[in-house]
Amino acid sequence: MLECHLILLGATGDLAMRKIFPALYLAHQSKLLAPIISAVARSKLDNETFQDNLTKKAQEYIPNLDPQSWGLFCQNIRYLSIDLTQPDDFKQLQHRTLPNTLIYFSIAPEFFAMACAHLAQVGLNAPGVKIVLEKPLGSDLQSCKDIYAQISKYYQEDQIYRIDHYLGKQSVQNLLELRAKNPILGALWNKEQVDHVQISVLETLGVENRGGFYDTAGALRDMLQNHMLQMLSLIAVPTLKNPNAQALRDAKLSVLKSLKPLDFQAFVKQVVRAQYGSSDGLKGYTQESNIPAQSQTETFVALKLEVQSSMWAGVPFYLRTGKRMGSSLVQIVLAFKGGGALILNLQPQYTLELNLKGVPPLQAHLDQGMDAYEKLILEAVRGNPALFSHQDELEAAWAWVDPILKAWEQNQVPLFTYPAGSFGPKVAFDLLESEGRSWHTPKDGYV
Ligand code: NAP
Repeated sequence: MLECHLILLGATGDLAMRKIFPALYLAHQSKLLAPIISAVARSKLDNETFQDNLTKKAQEYIPNLDPQSWGLFCQNIRYLSIDLTQPDDFKQLQHRTLPNTLIYFSIAPEFFAMACAHLAQVGLNAPGVKIVLEKPLGSDLQSCKDIYAQISKYYQEDQIYRIDHYLGKQSVQNLLELRAKNPILGALWNKEQVDHVQISVLETLGVENRGGFYDTAGALRDMLQNHMLQMLSLIAVPTLKNPNAQALRDAKLSVLKSLKPLDFQAFVKQVVRAQYGSSDGLKGYTQESNIPAQSQTETFVALKLEVQSSMWAGVPFYLRTGKRMGSSLVQIVLAFKGGGALILNLQPQYTLELNLKGVPPLQAHLDQGMDAYEKLILEAVRGNPALFSHQDELEAAWAWVDPILKAWEQNQVPLFTYPAGSFGPKVAFDLLESEGRSWHTPKDGYV
């Protein structure tokens, strides 16, 4: 069992309760991790009250919670009321500089710099201390650099673990492994064989209770700039002979840097932004709570891009993501020249499908493996950076996305509307159909 001291900043928050504590509990229950947890938030609670609240949430979020193993897990949790704006409050952590300390920042990014400074004052930036950062890490290239400039005053790059929970999914990690273990797939994975690639991340959910946050972000920042470009980079890297963390990060960075920049002509022709409108009893985006009636924030984006590497030059990559879609789906399609396709459904089920001409589709159901947060926390505790993004990757992704954001801010590109519960506006279908292609539809229809 791995031992660690985990300081969880934002321990009373939604993410901590819904994802982080359940992941830590699962890792403890599986005897993979023995964490001592300092649960930190602003609320003035005693340990008992915090634990009562935590247990109520655990009963809600962890299926078939076993009271005995939950009780054992909770024995090593201590709640500390610390206001991130009050340096003196951090003295409570002073005697907690235990070996293998990981500090999880499940707090709003505007607190990152202040928290780093105050943690450093009590020695919690010593070499070996690791910090885990949640998205969003900036809202454009400059703000991403600004956040890093602040954090890097106190922590070295190799102490920083940036969470992109898509990278924790077994199905996403398998994008590399599939090719490495099956040279036949590797042989199909290039511009000679592939006509085009599709990546879809569709959600039936709307903005739920996170409207205030979402309206400042939108689909491009919230989903495409990070999760989808990370998935794209894993698809587009060459098969690595020695896939260590450094080689993988370098290869992903090289893909992100080789994305063909979009000019104004391209924004109009290749990028679709849209927002859901009311339909069939579902609210439109601007009727959701905490969304201004005049909001121009996109809840859907579809675009075509090109990876200008020797492996992919000339092959279009089509990406689309949206909220309030007709179905929830995370899917990657490699459509082959002359017909046929390899389809990886990553969510809700993990399946690999091979469509060949003249035979019915072949489908295999695969194991989703460990929960993504559990996997990522374990890898951070182990000090394995392979599943976390480097600052250079973030900056390369923002550098590519920034001109699109600027064109949108200046209202140079129309904002389309699509009915809630549909698959996006017609222009998103035209994007492919005008080139003799179409978005892949599951053979049994969408679920
Ligand atoms: P949240 O529910 O608003 O929780 C915020 C946490 O920060 C609470 O524990 C709060 O403590 C604490 N906090 C706020 N001000 C503080 C202060 N001055 N001193 C000490 N603690 C303070 O937010 P969340 O949804 O959990 O999100 C946390 C972070 O993860 C955000 O950066 C968010 O963007 C990111 N994220 C969230 C999700 C998600 O699904 N929720 C997904 C991806 C990324 P009190 O309650 O005691 O005030």
